Amino acid sequence: MRAPLIDRFGRRHTYLRISVTDRCNLRCTYCMPEEGIALASHFDLLTFEEISRVLQIFAEMGINKVRLTGGEPLLRKGLPNLISSISQTSGIDKVGLTTNGILLTDYAEPLRNAGLKSVNISLDTLNQDRFLQITRVGRIEKVLEGIEAAIAGAFSPIKINMVVMKDFNDDEISDFIEYFFEKPVHLRFIEFMPFRSNGWNRQKLIPAAAIRQIIGERFSFMPAGSEEPDQVARPYQIEGMKGSIGIISSMTEEFCESCSRLRLSATGGVKTCLFGPEDGNVRNLLRDGATDVEIETFIRQCLDRKPSGHQSFNEGEFLVESPMVAIGG
Ligand code: SAM
Ligand code: SF4
Repeated sequence: MRAPLIDRFGRRHTYLRISVTDRCNLRCTYCMPEEGIALASHFDLLTFEEISRVLQIFAEMGINKVRLTGGEPLLRKGLPNLISSISQTSGIDKVGLTTNGILLTDYAEPLRNAGLKSVNISLDTLNQDRFLQITRVGRIEKVLEGIEAAIAGAFSPIKINMVVMKDFNDDEISDFIEYFFEKPVHLRFIEFMPFRSNGWNRQKLIPAAAIRQIIGERFSFMPAGSEEPDQVARPYQIEGMKGSIGIISSMTEEFCESCSRLRLSATGGVKTCLFGPEDGNVRNLLRDGATDVEIETFIRQCLDRKPSGHQSFNEGEFLVESPMVAIGG
């Protein structure tokens, strides 16, 4: 066992988000610039062996929860094999996946067999025209089928992530609650965040307080306890609803003080804050024969750069330079 990952501000890090690809089969306006992004070459992507090795070292430093993301992670060939290896890594208790759901019907069974238990599915509207306005390509039925496949496969928890944008889909918040009321899923309403070329502006942000107000106009809800101490959503329960609802308020009610997350990009970048730059890249070390101790030291140096928090939305504009599709959320 190695010493835990505790940063300069005393925060212990137990959660690693791993992006497995920068490719995507959708092109969501809030995530991918219209012109696309310069894609990494196949050579630059960490191999499954490299991910597994670096994860082993992270796990020895106390990482116990992993989420795979992207781009669209289901586009990475052989993903169930990686999930299987991660699930068997000593110290890793939870493995999750965040997907746009397009390929989920095909993959639900192999993912389950590989040991995946929980899944987050992104869906921002229930309307095909609006779906296309956001994703630029793709069919909403595939996502809805994917959600049903996740339910049929008994994944738990299943979370539906909706990015709320003013005058675009804020009128669907209550529709989402009704549509999913009796399904075993948890709804997560996410504040729209600013990334390069993603159409963000202050007017399009619906703050968490306003989301709560919209929900309160139709439903009565109360704070619910969270089973996952490291989750960023504030959970609420609506009477009679099977799952919970939650709001991810990265912009207006930051949760930096209790942040326990680190990120590993598809090309080996280590990021300690979603809104910050990459703090280093571990790929060359992995390829140049570095020892586990050298990799551990490098990761700790990255962690030393983690800020206490990101700039507050209320203090003025800020924009993250890299597009979200290359970070993984
Ligand atoms: N392709 C997968 C998906 O869409 O679920 C995984 C990657 S995606 C980058 C991860 C999450 O980030 C999704 O839930 C997506 O809605 C969210 N996201 C992307 N851009 C965002 C933004 N500008 N503001 C808030 N959430 C965003
Ligand atoms: Fe792709 Fe997910 Fe980004 Fe949409 S949010 S473009 S599905 S990575």
